[in-house]
Amino acid sequence: MTDSISGKSNLNWASFAEELAPVATISEPVLVKKRSRDFFWYSPILNSQLRRSFGDLVALPKTPEEMAHCLSVAYAHDAPIVLRGGGTGNYGQAVPLDGGLIIETTAMNRILDIGDGYVTAEAGANIEEINAALHAKGWELAIFPSTQDIATIGGFIAGGSSGIGSVAQGMLRDPGNIISLKAMSVEDTPKLRLFEGQDVNQIHHAWGLNGVITEVTLRTVPHQKWIGCMATFDSYPKAYGAGYALACAPDIHRKLVSTVDARICAYFPRLADHLRPGKHLMTSLVPVEDMDAYRALIAEQGGTVDLAMSETELKAAKLPHVFEFAYNHTTLQVLKADRSATYLQVGCPTPPDPAAITDLGPKLGDDVWQHHEFALLDGQIVSFDLPIVWYSTEDRLHEIEATYEANGFPVYDAHVCMVEGGGLKNADYRHLAWKKRMDPKGLLNSGKSLEWENVKHKTPEEIEAMIPE
Ligand SMILES: Cc1cc2nc3c(=O)[nH]c(=O)nc-3n(C[C@H](O)[C@H](O)[C@H](O)COP(=O)(O)OP(=O)(O)OC[C@H]3O[C@@H](n4cnc5c(N)ncnc54)[C@H](O)[C@@H]3O)c2cc1C
Repeated sequence: MTDSISGKSNLNWASFAEELAPVATISEPVLVKKRSRDFFWYSPILNSQLRRSFGDLVALPKTPEEMAHCLSVAYAHDAPIVLRGGGTGNYGQAVPLDGGLIIETTAMNRILDIGDGYVTAEAGANIEEINAALHAKGWELAIFPSTQDIATIGGFIAGGSSGIGSVAQGMLRDPGNIISLKAMSVEDTPKLRLFEGQDVNQIHHAWGLNGVITEVTLRTVPHQKWIGCMATFDSYPKAYGAGYALACAPDIHRKLVSTVDARICAYFPRLADHLRPGKHLMTSLVPVEDMDAYRALIAEQGGTVDLAMSETELKAAKLPHVFEFAYNHTTLQVLKADRSATYLQVGCPTPPDPAAITDLGPKLGDDVWQHHEFALLDGQIVSFDLPIVWYSTEDRLHEIEATYEANGFPVYDAHVCMVEGGGLKNADYRHLAWKKRMDPKGLLNSGKSLEWENVKHKTPEEIEAMIPE
């Protein structure tokens, strides 16, 4: 008799848990349901689609051997599997659509090696802990997400794309940022495969549907004494223009440049005593030795430096990391006060142009408040808009997306839970070919790929032949 929490499984999960022993499991329905969620609720559309999608059992392997045991038992029972790190993904990436086994990696969390320019860690290692261990040896991660305090390194490599550091170091997928990774197959006897060089992209950003990452080696850069900086400006285009100037400045080694409309800043109560009210914000991280050049640039751009504090000073002032007002944390700050906000992910014309932003603002309407991140993409500084959108209806959301697109700003849909729907836009046949190799029964997070149903009967080579020229 089934004791399925998801209501989608015929398996007996109590005996499944016994078979998993000695691996620790969680079967308490409230806790299983909690671990079936991520930050999909940012999107009202995903919230209504996913809030009742649950797994049936959570396993917490501590070692690669325990992970292999979980995968082998799931394989024997044809049980759907979803990997879970910190559960901070935005699109329901870690939500089990077909019920089944959730494998949480947070107990597989050792930092294995730190050397010159690299760190090797198990997939479940917490990113903040990795950075703390690196700092002690004079290094830091080249790129990390603003969720570092909660997220795992495996979840970032499987689900993320860029973050703090990207304005200097590019995207995770760029050569050398992910040095290597190990991924395990889902078979009777799971196999561990090493991916190196550009081959890491066979697994990176596949949302855990084509292999279980057990270990990663990432590029590190020399640690610097970073100053969290916040400068304010009289108009948003001025803040944006200053953001672009800082992102390009040859003499300032910034690792974060983010600009936020003044209306969004009104939702940052913890900064109320520190920022000029009603002004538009640029947030950045600048090394202490470049602060004179930074201050000169802000003055030249017509701004005022309102806050400049080291991490220790921020802590003493009971303020969070400045990057908690950047990337998708900006949206979170607004959502803390009002759940009717949501967001979009939008590319901007290159090179970034304040005139294009000025021109676009009125076309978007008062329910869209802009927020940009600057990053290095294919050797050029670009910007992405992660605007706050005051949600009214799905039709209005699509109308806003259409306005962006019509003005040359490509939209990467943040309101779909399919890997083909968001950043990738199209099916990634490399990912799907590797899924066939690593997960022949299609048990790993398969509901997240629309195209998998069409290719699952093909060989990996036939799937690879579908890669467009
Ligand atoms: C407030 C906020 C800010 C964010 N900022 C950023 C940012 O700056 N940059 C960025 O890229 N993203 C960002 N994100 C998205 C997300 O936080 C990151 O991608 C994060 O690193 C995910 O890590 P996690 O451990 O929480 O992964 P999870 O959410 O647990 O998992 C993410 C995906 O990876 C899969 N997965 C997890 N572990 C493994 C594994 N070992 N093997 C295979 N697959 C696995 C899951 O199945 C899921 O599909 C943000 C999200 C929020 C809510």
